[in-house]
Amino acid sequence: MSGGLTLLPPSVDRHAHLEGSLDAAWVRQQAALEGKPIPATLEALWRTETIPFEGFIPAFFFSCGFLRSAEAAREILRAALRRLPPPEVGMPRGIDLWVSPHYLCAHEKLLSLDDLWRGMDDGIAEARAQGVKVAVILDAVNHFGVAHGHAVLDLVLGNLPEWVIGFSTGGIEGVPFREWAEVFERARKNGLRLAAHAGENGPGTNVRDAILEAGVSRIVHGVHAAAHPEILELLADRKIPVDVCITSNRALVPDLGPHPLPQMLRAGVRCALGTDDPGVMPCTIPSEWEAAKGLGLTHEELITLRRNAVEDAWSLQP
Ligand SMILES: [Zn+2]
Repeated sequence: MSGGLTLLPPSVDRHAHLEGSLDAAWVRQQAALEGKPIPATLEALWRTETIPFEGFIPAFFFSCGFLRSAEAAREILRAALRRLPPPEVGMPRGIDLWVSPHYLCAHEKLLSLDDLWRGMDDGIAEARAQGVKVAVILDAVNHFGVAHGHAVLDLVLGNLPEWVIGFSTGGIEGVPFREWAEVFERARKNGLRLAAHAGENGPGTNVRDAILEAGVSRIVHGVHAAAHPEILELLADRKIPVDVCITSNRALVPDLGPHPLPQMLRAGVRCALGTDDPGVMPCTIPSEWEAAKGLGLTHEELITLRRNAVEDAWSLQP
């Protein structure tokens, strides 16, 4: 199978954050209504400029500050659906969606947990009615520390919708994964799958530590692992899925250089594409697919990238 055939984009968004998926136009409108100036860092991101990760966090939270109702949560699911490619015969469609309930409902008190779950449940039901499966992964903020990780679990474990199936850390990779291990273990004992943002704004060795010291079975980004052949080998040997978000990585990883996706795929790492925070850094799965093609992947590597998207998606697993 080669030449002539145009491969369609993958049918799964393997990594998107609920909080980062509010449409830019919608945020601009809400901000104008409330008389809030848009932070310069957010404007820069909307123009697809590269900014330091420390500037990204407030821009991200400015945007998600408008997530104040069940209706807003439902709208985000609808926006996430629009960022998938159109249905393709024989291809299952899915979204693996990260959410930070503790930040939204306890830290910022933007809305109640019941409203968050209700809005997401409505949006997920709509997605399912259109043949799109959704899995939700809890996201704890790494740099808020281990106590915050426990607080995330304390908040949700008594009231966990069936579509929440995973636990992850995100944010700045400031607290070592060995310290996070106890939180991951508690999440695992409660039936949750484990993932971590690692090797993005922290060193590639964080990828190894997340796997070996915290026991995670999925890595988000992991781009700095490309500098460590032995860590790429670990990822390949253990068949650890790695969610790569080209637009986001280019915006938030200033020392990225040429995107290492081709190198990671050639090392046998099971990479797939995600949009990450497409409301903050505008992109879709079709646009990420075009970006991947622009990296010089062979036809066979593109087939692999497409296949990984479906095979490792938590939203598509029983
Ligand atoms: Zn992310």
